[in-house]
Amino acid sequence: MTKLLVGPFDQVLTMDQLSYNGPLKDDQMHIVENAGILVEDEKIVEVGSFLKLIRKHKEAEVFELELPSVAMPGMIDSHTHICFGGSRARDYAMRNSGSSYQEIAKAGGGIWDTVQHTRQQTDIHMNLAMLARAVQHRDAGITTIEVKSGYGLSVEEEIRMLSAIKLADMTCSADIIGTCLAAHIKPLDYDGDHAAYINEIIEKLFPKILSMDLCYRVDAFVEEGAFSPKIIAPYFERAKALDFDITVHADQFSPGGSAVAVEFGALSADHLEASGEREIQMLAESDTVATALPGASIGLGCDYTPARKLLDAGCCLAIASDWNPGSAPMGNLMTQAALLGAFEKLSNTEVLSGLTFRAAKALGLSDRGRLSPGMLADFIIFPTNDYREILYHQGTMVPYLVFKNGYLCEEESLGFDDEEFELNPDIDDDILFSDLSLDELAKILEEKTKGNDDTDSN
Ligand SMILES: [Zn+2]
Repeated sequence: MTKLLVGPFDQVLTMDQLSYNGPLKDDQMHIVENAGILVEDEKIVEVGSFLKLIRKHKEAEVFELELPSVAMPGMIDSHTHICFGGSRARDYAMRNSGSSYQEIAKAGGGIWDTVQHTRQQTDIHMNLAMLARAVQHRDAGITTIEVKSGYGLSVEEEIRMLSAIKLADMTCSADIIGTCLAAHIKPLDYDGDHAAYINEIIEKLFPKILSMDLCYRVDAFVEEGAFSPKIIAPYFERAKALDFDITVHADQFSPGGSAVAVEFGALSADHLEASGEREIQMLAESDTVATALPGASIGLGCDYTPARKLLDAGCCLAIASDWNPGSAPMGNLMTQAALLGAFEKLSNTEVLSGLTFRAAKALGLSDRGRLSPGMLADFIIFPTNDYREILYHQGTMVPYLVFKNGYLCEEESLGFDDEEFELNPDIDDDILFSDLSLDELAKILEEKTKGNDDTDSN
């Protein structure tokens, strides 16, 4: 890849020199004005004065911006469930009409409903539906997307989901990171108790995930009605012994999960709406990232994660979408983060940190989330000259350009000559979903799958 200089920017938010933990004020934000971003070999070489960079690097190709422009690191969504089938619009309507959790389950709703619809999806539709959501997310500026399984809930179906997630990573320019959430709920068709189900996952699924190289992270829903701290312990013990990274759905409706997360050295404890002083203090004293999922609070009409208290106690706070068909169907991470900021009184710097380098920490990634030399050249560009406009618009201002690994995503939207700028040769995602029928997409994906015959997508 030749050197590429992008600019001039009114402001570049490098997110540099900001701490992982605790509160952040807006006057701490590191802003480079009249800036350029110099990229080579998929990484940031330098962020500095555009004019100086142009003089110093005469050999660089210049991508000149004509609109007012603010750049920030590509966002990182560290918690999603975007691989799913079906819709839970009925649940949403019933819940908002006053139906209880039990009444919704009795009518056939809840997680089990999504499990059944996901199992019924063909491989191709599972891939396409997820890929369409991933592309939507990428175009909103999210260049790293975590995706959980957890709607398969049998050894075979969890493998099928994790294979689909891995395939999506190969076909989307955003990085897609899979997580095994086989311990989402105990499947209703499983003949045995919770402990027996967990044992089957440990004995049969974990080795397969490793031998097929499907993912390196595991997650569990620790909650009354899902898995208790005691029942889930062997799952995390084995995961730890096998070197999986651990993350936990914790303290969503009742406290308990955060203690499990800290005990097993989880990278992150996610949800935390029900965390009290004790849980907040425990997380602050640990290395576990506290991840707020405002989309679930909005979807369920519940309290937000106590983000202000978590930060003031000294936690590392990430913000993720929890995009899923049940509790968080919106999927608009920027809107959710902006609302969390307004309700919890978070500074712009705290919110944007939670969407970038602090979220990277939740995924155990140290190569992204800041725009400094050596970091991946993942950056997104908003049409404004003042970064405060971004959250002020609460998600309705979207990036007009998205760069992933130094390559421009979706060149069609630019009006630039296609030939002029190099696109990532490894990625073949310049499919415009809106322009193709489902059958056409299925054909394209089938060919891609054939090309990778060592991929077991069942
Ligand atoms: Zn979740």
